[in-house]
Amino acid sequence: MTIAALDQAFVLSSYGRNSTSFVEGNGAKLYDDNGKEYIDFASGIGVSSVGHGNPVLTEAICAQAKALIHTSNLQVIAPQAELAEQIVTLSGYDMRCFFGNSGAEANEAAIKIVRKYGETQFEKKRYKVITLEHSFHGRTITTVKATGQDSFHTPHFSPYPDGFSYVSKIDAVYEAIDAETVAVMIELVQGEGGVQPFEKEEIQHLAKTLKERGILLIVDEVQTGVYRTGAFLASNLYGIEPDVITLAKGLAGGVPIGVAMTSLKEIFEPGDHGSTFGGNFLSTRAGLAVLEVLTEEKESGAIAEKIALFDSHLSSIMEKYPALFSSSVGLGLMLGLRAVSSEVQQSVLKKTFEAGLIVLKAGRNTVRFLPPLTISKEEINEGFKRFEKAISTL
Ligand code: PLP
Repeated sequence: MTIAALDQAFVLSSYGRNSTSFVEGNGAKLYDDNGKEYIDFASGIGVSSVGHGNPVLTEAICAQAKALIHTSNLQVIAPQAELAEQIVTLSGYDMRCFFGNSGAEANEAAIKIVRKYGETQFEKKRYKVITLEHSFHGRTITTVKATGQDSFHTPHFSPYPDGFSYVSKIDAVYEAIDAETVAVMIELVQGEGGVQPFEKEEIQHLAKTLKERGILLIVDEVQTGVYRTGAFLASNLYGIEPDVITLAKGLAGGVPIGVAMTSLKEIFEPGDHGSTFGGNFLSTRAGLAVLEVLTEEKESGAIAEKIALFDSHLSSIMEKYPALFSSSVGLGLMLGLRAVSSEVQQSVLKKTFEAGLIVLKAGRNTVRFLPPLTISKEEINEGFKRFEKAISTL
């Protein structure tokens, strides 16, 4: 049986997959089982933050695997403690971390944190969380319910947990707050929802108003975090101080990890929450290696240069192809081109893949770019050469 046939026979079809199978990667290049080369402008989906085969990451993983992969969370885990310290220091916030294995788990932990706060801090329990339309917060029953897109709330999986409501824009949050509201949860740049950043002023006003009204702010930085938008956290760029922040995707460069960090430093007591694998030696050692690589990239100015190069390519494409794209969106290296229709979006995705370039789909007809943050200028230029070759046939 071929690998594609094995996949079809034995793996549940929850993904719309094509039959390509990658076997190797190097930097921002991937190779499939026919030896075809692709430039990776996707990083999985925003995960391979230091590219493929990064020597600092792979050597750290190999050394840690030889020493110790896993113990339970009933003992202290040295790289977990060190990674928590680094994340908190880089964030600039006075917080503590809980480690899980994915973005959805990080958001589950965030929801538990605010619910415990709402249960313990007020005479009348507060438990409701307001989220935004077009948001995406995960696939567990609770985080899918937190996701502000009706298409995800199919009856197949009902009943969903209570306590989530959605608003169409930031301004509408204020009226949606009631006596049982405990928190507002937002992505500062809605990734799956179309790489759409919110305005800095409206977010600063929201953060200030929520503080005044005693409502917590959860910022889901699963996609925007760990330098994706140019700063360590998008919250840093927006100049706000959230109560809870979640991270995952790029933090360990492809080793599963998730973090919920909060300024409510005493919220959990032993037994309140846990995860068998969360924060184990392997994933947190990988996280430390990723931060070593990316802080160097940030401090040397390399990330800023790549952002500028990507922006200049996207501007030139916008100028040359107004019949295909209506606007360019995003922040840092979390970027998108809005296609004029879903048909154009589909054709761009298909043609670019054929041309040896991986880009992603996002909501609102967006063609999304989430390249490794260590991508070289040559790889960026080659990727756009392939992009233009692909779209010039449309
Ligand atoms: N939150 C955001 C903003 C995301 O983009 C995603 C994944 O795309 C998630 C949460 C869920 O993360 P995971 O798939 O790791 O559970």
